[in-house]
Amino acid sequence: MQIIEKVSELLTYVENGKRKGLKTGLVPTMGALHKGHLSLVKRSKQDNDVTIVSLFVNPVQFNNPTDLATYPRQQEEDFKLLAQEGVDVVFAPTVEEIYPEDFDRNRKFDLGKTAEVMEGIYRPGHFQGVALVVNRLFELCRPTHAYFGMKDFQQIAVIRAMVQKEGLDVEIIACPIVREDSGLAFSSRNQLLEEQDKESAPVIFQTLKESKEYSLTHSVEETRQWVSDRINSKENFKLEYFEIVDGETLLPVEEWDEAQYIVGCITVYLGKVRLIDNIVYKGRI
Ligand code: AMP
Repeated sequence: MQIIEKVSELLTYVENGKRKGLKTGLVPTMGALHKGHLSLVKRSKQDNDVTIVSLFVNPVQFNNPTDLATYPRQQEEDFKLLAQEGVDVVFAPTVEEIYPEDFDRNRKFDLGKTAEVMEGIYRPGHFQGVALVVNRLFELCRPTHAYFGMKDFQQIAVIRAMVQKEGLDVEIIACPIVREDSGLAFSSRNQLLEEQDKESAPVIFQTLKESKEYSLTHSVEETRQWVSDRINSKENFKLEYFEIVDGETLLPVEEWDEAQYIVGCITVYLGKVRLIDNIVYKGRI
């Protein structure tokens, strides 16, 4: 496994692969790797000749300075895990490599409505930061395929919008959420949870799962309210939002028969830690 920190070195590697016509999979991550990330790596290895994993905590997508400062970083462990997976290249650049002085960090992408709802309301600027870094990584790595987790459900829609608007030739592959035995979705932020919150965190997915049963005999609004009340009734849990949306447009639905694909997206503060999760009520996974 090659560890590359410099853009110039990466470009040489990528150019070489292009000349050979290799299928290249890119797995963008912010490090502090867990089984969720590794599932994307495994999928990319299956589909491609070459897999590049990027490890980069992108300051531009953090709208909260404390969140950026406390974001877990464990590069040496990440390298070990990726070597075990048989990754070809780890791209672990500095901020200056990704955003050199003459780079326009304020470039804005047309992301349509997908970026305006849910996370778009509570994390202003976040998706512009995500689009900026993913666009930059695509430009540098020139992947044929790129892998993203459904845990960040809205992020996939935003990236698809960016790819379409920019006319990029890369296939975006959405991979299923990987969970701990308790049902809690793996997240780098889980390690920031206080011990007692770690124990209660599985309530988020348990509630979503039970709401699927509840939804069979109740309206969208009743289901939305049921989940919101259950979460808010738990000690130390504070719901930021729970929305039941059309999985394509991300706009809220009012009736279960209003869309082919319906997803419930939740964001909860557990103590100071912000966790997100989602459940598919109807349609494709
Ligand atoms: P992050 O390092 O948090 O930016 O995540 C990098 C990629 O891993 C994103 O595409 C995430 O959606 C994906 N990911 C994170 N957690 C999980 C999970 N539990 N299951 C599947 N994919 C995940």
